[in-house]
Amino acid sequence: MQHQKVVKLAVPTPLRRTFDYLYTGAAPVTGGRVEVPFGRQSLVATVLSSDTTTDIPLNKLKHIKRIIDSKPLLPDSIFKLIRFSANYYQHPIGEVFSSCLPTLLKKGEAAELEPEWQWRLTLAGEQAIPTLRKNAVKQQQLFQLCQEHSGLIDEPLLSQHDFTPSYLKTFEEKGWLVKETKDTHSIYEPSPDYEQKLELNAEQAAAVETISPHLGSFKGFLIDGVTGSGKTEIYMQLIEQTLRNKKQVLLLVPEIGLTPQTVKRIERRFNVPIAMLHSGLTDKQRLNIWLKARQGQLSIIIGTRSALFTPLAEPGLIIVDEEHDLSYKQQDGFRYSARDLAIVRAQYEDLPVVLGSATPSMESLHNVKQGKLALLRLTKRAGEAKPPHIKVLDVRQRHLNQGLSQPLIDAMRQHLELGQQCMIFLNRRGFAPTLMCHECGWIADCQRCDRHMTYHQRFKRLHCHHCDKQVFTPKRCPECQSPQLNPVGLGTERLEEALKALFPEHTVARVDRDSTRRKDSMQDIVQAIKNDDIDILIGTQMLAKGHHFPKLSLVGVVDTDGCLFSADFRATERTAQLLTQVAGRAGRSKGMKGEVVIQSHHPDHPLLVNLFTQDYQTLSDKVLQEREEALLPPFAAMAIFRAEANTLEMPMTFLNEVKQQLNHTQLTVFGPFPAPMPKRAGKMRAQLMVQHSQRKVLQQALTPITPSLEQLPSSRKVRWSIDVDPQEV
Ligand code: ADP
Ligand code: ZN
Ligand code: ZN
Repeated sequence: MQHQKVVKLAVPTPLRRTFDYLYTGAAPVTGGRVEVPFGRQSLVATVLSSDTTTDIPLNKLKHIKRIIDSKPLLPDSIFKLIRFSANYYQHPIGEVFSSCLPTLLKKGEAAELEPEWQWRLTLAGEQAIPTLRKNAVKQQQLFQLCQEHSGLIDEPLLSQHDFTPSYLKTFEEKGWLVKETKDTHSIYEPSPDYEQKLELNAEQAAAVETISPHLGSFKGFLIDGVTGSGKTEIYMQLIEQTLRNKKQVLLLVPEIGLTPQTVKRIERRFNVPIAMLHSGLTDKQRLNIWLKARQGQLSIIIGTRSALFTPLAEPGLIIVDEEHDLSYKQQDGFRYSARDLAIVRAQYEDLPVVLGSATPSMESLHNVKQGKLALLRLTKRAGEAKPPHIKVLDVRQRHLNQGLSQPLIDAMRQHLELGQQCMIFLNRRGFAPTLMCHECGWIADCQRCDRHMTYHQRFKRLHCHHCDKQVFTPKRCPECQSPQLNPVGLGTERLEEALKALFPEHTVARVDRDSTRRKDSMQDIVQAIKNDDIDILIGTQMLAKGHHFPKLSLVGVVDTDGCLFSADFRATERTAQLLTQVAGRAGRSKGMKGEVVIQSHHPDHPLLVNLFTQDYQTLSDKVLQEREEALLPPFAAMAIFRAEANTLEMPMTFLNEVKQQLNHTQLTVFGPFPAPMPKRAGKMRAQLMVQHSQRKVLQQALTPITPSLEQLPSSRKVRWSIDVDPQEV
């Protein structure tokens, strides 16, 4: 061991280790970036500790190329959060750092905000105004603008009125305007020009009163409020109090399609700088928001998953809206859960974190039962909207026109005649290709497991992913001998055609990934719906969440069966969430009769019966009980090793070796099995599942083993990853 000018770095490589480098001169600061030679490349790395020791002979170490930051890039809390995340999710620390930083910082750009300028009208300037020539129109305009804005103009204002800063040069020279850097530290000043807050109903008031005493220290809350119960108003009143305390707010939302509306609502309410982090930003814009947030120049930051790592100078409150949403979990690379890390962050920064949902995740409900989250319940819709009437429609033996039954078509006609909107919902994510009999509803169950088999159209086979049993697809239904065996599933495009033919006098719009690929198209569609330019909406998941469409009164769900029968143990939870959320879009205005029609070949399925005769809460209690009995998450901590290669053999070999390494631990191991969708993008995939009732034991077992897997020769023949707390099995 030698003690000599060595730094330990997080270098963005797929290796689960840190790297030592030498330096001369002043020590690079911990938490700052340095540039280092790595193989033949030059990489930007983060200093984990400087002035440290190394086990490697000094002559084997390389020197860092340059120091990028003279100060730590991140506040301590975020530095700690990133290190915690790398450990917890068993992901290479260098990659974690790099995926948490804006692209330009990853590339080594300086972490300095370019100053923003403003011009102040001087006394001399004021005196000069009456002397300006009448025909100097531009000059007149400029000074008028200046006077309208209390003698201050800034760059955005200038460009709004087609002035460039160069235009001001002559006035600066005359001493009429002085150029100064803008003091962008914002202070919240309630303003009568802004939208006023709503008077809270009793349940909302109770929630705000419970949470607000905790502003200023760590505590976790779950707001479990039915759709339309006014959770946003609660968030806004908590935001207001946070702003009054001169603190910043981080609001996480699941989907970018929702963000513009939320931002508008918040902008109308608060007189503070607000930023929205979304995928449509340029690298430069993203960096600027990041830097401003870090310097306390932004009061409210709204963003999706990755916004969780935004540094804040004065953090005061974290809100995670629609906390059950799958999009909070990153599904590739660094597979973190922004919701779970929001709680860790709140702990590190000693502030409250508020999770909100109409359909809370089993994880959060379990945390409530364990006393880790305080529960606040909103049981009624806010204002005067009534809950919608929900009907499960038995479509066995009915003629279906692209999935639509006659009673649903009739119901649509009624609502359209009243001048209201209809939404037809198609669940594509739930598209679990299983085989079903159209005559009697028979489903291809596995003989050896209490699960359904997956239908592989290409191979004409049914396959159980739990015991690996495979059979050829039957030609006739084993129950009723009908030859009408269909894979479950339907496409939005064909549905759109059918609806246009059925309702030629009405406008139909389709909202799915394909139709909203263009940057602002989701926003345009949402606006068109609100403007009442669209009568019939065909939607997938994207439409299920958060939206408030005042004229929408009928929601039809055409293919519920696809999600009733899935191989994933989370199917019930997900389906209940989805159906509750979709149903929650109907009848959100005062005096409107909302109606929800759920078509199913399985109207007696316990999930549907429980969900709609009782409610999400009753159902979630049942689901939790089942999970406890089966020792499944959230009653066990789970991780999945996944591997893929050109043939299934290599991933299976690798995972079997992983399994051997795990033999000496206390973990329960399942597999390896082929993945539920074994072939993807031309690769064959397999997985190995491990779990333990205690999170800590799982962590302690994985931490030494995961890096050692990189040494296995079989690991080089596959692409592998580990997914801690997987959301999709
Ligand atoms: P959620 O997010 O819980 O589904 P929202 O926050 O979108 O519900 O609120 C649904 C509707 O109820 C909105 O139009 C909102 O303006 C209205 N609302 C919320 N709180 C109140 C209140 N206290 N009084 C009257 N209307 C309210
Ligand atoms: Zn049958
Ligand atoms: Zn089976």
